[in-house]
Amino acid sequence: MRLIYEKSVKGRRGFKLPQPDVPEQEGIPAKFSRKHKANLPEASELDVIRHFTNLSCMNFSVDNNFYPLGSCTMKYNPKFTEKIVKIEGFLELHPLIPQLLGGGRLAQGALEIIYNTEKLLCEITGMKAFTMQPLAGAHGELTGAMLIAAYHKNKGCRRRHIIVPDSSHGTNPASAAIAGYDVIIIKTDKDGCMDIKEFKQKLNKDTAAVMLTCPNTLGLFNTRIKEITGLAHSVGALVYYDGANLNAIMGKCRPGDIGFDVVHLNLHKTFATPHGGGGPGAGPVGVSGSLVKFLPISRVMKRPGGVFYLNYNNKESIGYIAPFYGNFAVILKAYAYMLILGKDGLIKASEYAVLNANYILSRLKDYYKLAFNRRCMHECVFSASRQTEKGVHALDIAKYLIDKGFHPPTIYFPLIVKEAMMIEPTETEPKETIDGFIDTMIEAAKLAETDPEKLTTAPRTMPVKRLDETKAARDLNLRWKPT
Ligand SMILES: *Cc1c(COP(=O)(O)O)cnc(C)c1O
Repeated sequence: MRLIYEKSVKGRRGFKLPQPDVPEQEGIPAKFSRKHKANLPEASELDVIRHFTNLSCMNFSVDNNFYPLGSCTMKYNPKFTEKIVKIEGFLELHPLIPQLLGGGRLAQGALEIIYNTEKLLCEITGMKAFTMQPLAGAHGELTGAMLIAAYHKNKGCRRRHIIVPDSSHGTNPASAAIAGYDVIIIKTDKDGCMDIKEFKQKLNKDTAAVMLTCPNTLGLFNTRIKEITGLAHSVGALVYYDGANLNAIMGKCRPGDIGFDVVHLNLHKTFATPHGGGGPGAGPVGVSGSLVKFLPISRVMKRPGGVFYLNYNNKESIGYIAPFYGNFAVILKAYAYMLILGKDGLIKASEYAVLNANYILSRLKDYYKLAFNRRCMHECVFSASRQTEKGVHALDIAKYLIDKGFHPPTIYFPLIVKEAMMIEPTETEPKETIDGFIDTMIEAAKLAETDPEKLTTAPRTMPVKRLDETKAARDLNLRWKPT
């Protein structure tokens, strides 16, 4: 596709500026005037509309087609939540509006929504309280690690390390390290869970916490989780639950009941906010009773009379973690989503997420090697290792899927699975779509046997064909220059 600059036609216009209604001024200081021509493209309104409409059609999104990108929960987000955040009273609310002063109660509704969302998340997870401030999952992890540090400091000790299994999301060890902890990695056993023997060896009085992604990045739920939380607590360590993909367990079991002390959720994965383009997220962090006093300020509280207010008065708090009250629009969407689905709807979401993943697992396991031959939770992980014998890699299968209109699964992650393909269908997809994807995956497995070149030369139908990945990373050409 040509750039808008290349489509420029001299003298073509799509707008007219009104006559200035103030006298023209002479003599803009020379230092402010442009030294070169602006080189703006010259185009009509039609040129511009066609150009950007066509560009937008090159985007892939879950509104186009199936997006089974493992661990990312790229589910369809119902449009009513978008409508709700555009209600004027929410849209135009300024974060500095006086919450109570001067009789103004303009922020009461917004505060009530933050408050109620926190209460619902407590109910879903079994935690005592949440901070709604963190702006993403990884930000929630960092907040959680800081809360853990505050807890130990308050007890008068400085524990040095956090234990993380090698099947955890990559952000877990990163967050622990940024919070100042050494990270001890535990390997995965033959069942796809943290090796309990190695865990017992590494766990000691210097362990601040164990951070578990649940289910882990293999899509597996650790069946010895209660034993793990018990062991950790027995040496005074805390247990952290990465609940970014809560739609695997929501309404089925609660981290708080299993003994977890800190939990983060990704509202933008489990509770309906489109994401994937680096857009706004929210990673609220829930804690058990002994950590509530360390939560970031401010917190939304309710007076006995029913008035909501922001409480900054907490000396033991870890302080500010984000400006204002978090990403309010994301919180609002999550609230609307939970209310409309209700308890039964949320439980069904988990059931469908897990059912869909297991359906894919069982239909594809004769064609691709399963990383761990067990029932999965919300995602399943295959390896293309059988296909590599024919010179076909996970990357080639991913590129072939693009040709067929599907977003590829996550590939080469988790790192512990060679040639990994991590497929997360989510709960929102109908059977026909999932079947279409499975059929294409089977087709790819057959092509690997009969005509591998069809895969290794894909994509063929896309505006951009197979890239030289080294050049794409090292030799970028990102700026148009006039010739
Ligand atoms: C997505 C994800 C994260 C990180 O969330 P961000 O909002 O991208 O920072 C952490 N853990 C798991 C398991 C995830 O899937």
